[in-house]
Amino acid sequence: MSLSGSWRAELRKLLAVLAASAVLGWATGLTIHMLCLGLALVTGFWLFQLWRMRRWLEQPDQAPPESSGIWGLVYDTIYGLQRENRDARGRLQSTVDYLRSSFASMRDGVVILTQSGAIEWCNAAAGGLLGLQYPRDRGQPLLNLLRWPAFHDYFLAGDFQQPLQIPSPSNPRQILQVDITTFAGGDFLLFVRDVTRVVQMEQMRRDFVGNVSHELRTPLTVFKGYLDNLGLSPVIAEEPRLGRALEQMDSQVVRMETLLSDLLWLSRIESVREERETVAVDIAGMLEELREELKSSHPDRLLVLELETRDTVLGDYRELRSAVSNLVINAIKYSDNHEPVVARWEREEDALVLSVVDRGIGIEEQHLTRLTERFYRVDESRSAATGGTGLGLAIVKHVAASHRAELLIESEPGRGSCFRLLFPQL
Ligand code: ADP
Repeated sequence: MSLSGSWRAELRKLLAVLAASAVLGWATGLTIHMLCLGLALVTGFWLFQLWRMRRWLEQPDQAPPESSGIWGLVYDTIYGLQRENRDARGRLQSTVDYLRSSFASMRDGVVILTQSGAIEWCNAAAGGLLGLQYPRDRGQPLLNLLRWPAFHDYFLAGDFQQPLQIPSPSNPRQILQVDITTFAGGDFLLFVRDVTRVVQMEQMRRDFVGNVSHELRTPLTVFKGYLDNLGLSPVIAEEPRLGRALEQMDSQVVRMETLLSDLLWLSRIESVREERETVAVDIAGMLEELREELKSSHPDRLLVLELETRDTVLGDYRELRSAVSNLVINAIKYSDNHEPVVARWEREEDALVLSVVDRGIGIEEQHLTRLTERFYRVDESRSAATGGTGLGLAIVKHVAASHRAELLIESEPGRGSCFRLLFPQL
């Protein structure tokens, strides 16, 4: 029966009871009493149904009581909703169980933390890597259990853009990488993995490049020494063919020397992260020095300085100097002689910004994302002609990363380029 149909039937029942009471009252002369008795019977029946319903709702697993009319309909509707609710809960629970078992079987440690940093759940791998145990540690603040200063600083700073790499306190030879993301409006998901092997491989790669560059330097110095001793001019005068060959050898030896010294410098920047000497570096002063040096090395070129602040940057002087001079030299190399290069040092909202702007050949957009890769060149022939090694911007990128600065490149072919280094404000 439909809802409106059962309401009508219920109304008819009520009217029938009232009519019967009225007839009985008329026959006995007690109309009011009989009507009250009729209403009392109806109210009693409804109260009885409400009592049955409450008893049934206390035992939700049982089938609803048998009833007809409007009460039967109400029982059926509630029962249907209960079943739907149970099914949805079951589905949700199986999804949660599925996710938990996939997290639990991960080789990486997974820890779920509440907004206040208390442990909500962790998998078995987190036990091995961080010494946590679930459910024993549930509700404990993670910072109370992991007493690593570097991790405390990282977690409390709340900046999880970059992962944290730390030696495991229980085994200093093991390197752990911690990644944290926030979810569900402020809870934390922490992943920890053993990256010892990756770090070792990376170190081996750096050592290899450093060692090879170092070893190649000695034979190169010997070549260079012999070439210098030979004295090229008399040979060129006496035997032009041999002279030209020696000239080529000389220029290639110089190129290799530059290449090796850039490679050595790059591997040094990459490896001495912790031991670097940090001082307040006067970037404006550095640009002024650079302009003086350029006057003798590139007398026909103009470097215009726009120094709008004298603010300093905390960092390694030599590294910053190499980054700044690479940007300026590139701007000079890749623009025409009569075009000035502008270097601007200014304070922006939340950063100190060095911009090096040229009106040179510019770079097509598809190359921009790859420029900082080692040995990446837009135009091989032009770069070779300018004596570039292809390592300059890789050096700039590493120096920027180690000073928490951002390198931004804007360029338009034929119009020029703007390289910007954004240093976070002190
Ligand atoms: P290179 O030693 O070849 O200059 P870099 O790493 O310094 O190597 O630069 C990589 C490439 O980026 C260069 O070969 C050049 O094609 C391009 N490049 C760098 N700076 C500029 C610039 N200011 N204008 C145009 N192209 C540039």
